[in-house]
Amino acid sequence: MADHRRIKTVVFFTVSTAFLFLPIPPPLSTEEKVIPPAYQQKTYFPETSQAVTVHFISGSDKGPTLLVLGGIHGDEEAGYLAAERFVHSRIRNGNLILVPRLNAAAIKKRQRQGLGGDMNRLFDLPEKTRHRNPDAKVVDLAKSLIQQADYVINLHQAYDFYAPRWISRERNPSKWGQCNVIDTPTYHLRNGDKLEPGGFAQKVARRSNERIKKKSYQFLVNNTNTGGPKTRHKEQKGSLTYYALTKQHKIALAVEATKNCSLPEAIAFLTIAVNSALEEAGIQSDTLPTEDVLVIGREINTGKKKSKT
Ligand SMILES: [Zn+2]
Repeated sequence: MADHRRIKTVVFFTVSTAFLFLPIPPPLSTEEKVIPPAYQQKTYFPETSQAVTVHFISGSDKGPTLLVLGGIHGDEEAGYLAAERFVHSRIRNGNLILVPRLNAAAIKKRQRQGLGGDMNRLFDLPEKTRHRNPDAKVVDLAKSLIQQADYVINLHQAYDFYAPRWISRERNPSKWGQCNVIDTPTYHLRNGDKLEPGGFAQKVARRSNERIKKKSYQFLVNNTNTGGPKTRHKEQKGSLTYYALTKQHKIALAVEATKNCSLPEAIAFLTIAVNSALEEAGIQSDTLPTEDVLVIGREINTGKKKSKT
């Protein structure tokens, strides 16, 4: 016992004496605050057909978090190609989380559906049976990322053009091209607060349209009124945005570019929408992808050449 105590005393004396000779670090000034890494990348479900790479980009100052997802539907190429263009962005404040290819199996097949059906209808699967769906784990990943975000943007592509009233077969309420889709303009929370996806969608559309010269390609806001009794879009109750709004109380938009244009043009429209959303959310950036259609066209050609080698 006595020996044991003596060892303890010696160890205590040695350690405490050692501290006397350590240089005392100066107190952290505001310039020296701990800065999180500006960029991190993580791949979930690696080496499988459902591998999902997520890019986390952080600014050195605090701010909101914008989550951008692409490729939930594998036949909407502009969505995942546009999201990928933000991977090298640098932002000053807040965070940008990018999931360019959420539904890798669908993208590989170049089809809307992946392994478990339309992934944008799987966000309300019943708890008891959801594990039977092979895409449930990918949906769970998306849900966990939504939890980290303040704003959520899901990028899509569709034929023709949305219009609130019938104008033509190409331009009417059942079409989806060139619109920011919201589930409701105002969402009331139980505590009396409210979220305004409608206001955000309008402001993003306004910023986007300042950069889109052709009036026929300007963005409109499409309110699907998903939770309402007279909705035309009951199917949207299983969507990513409806889940984000109603279960996690996040401002969520689906942005739809038309397929009635070239691929570089569609990518430019979605790039404009994401750039506008960043601005509207108050996330300042040093570098963002160009909105120039010719440059985007060259990027795609270079990417194709690279993927062939
Ligand atoms: Zn879609």
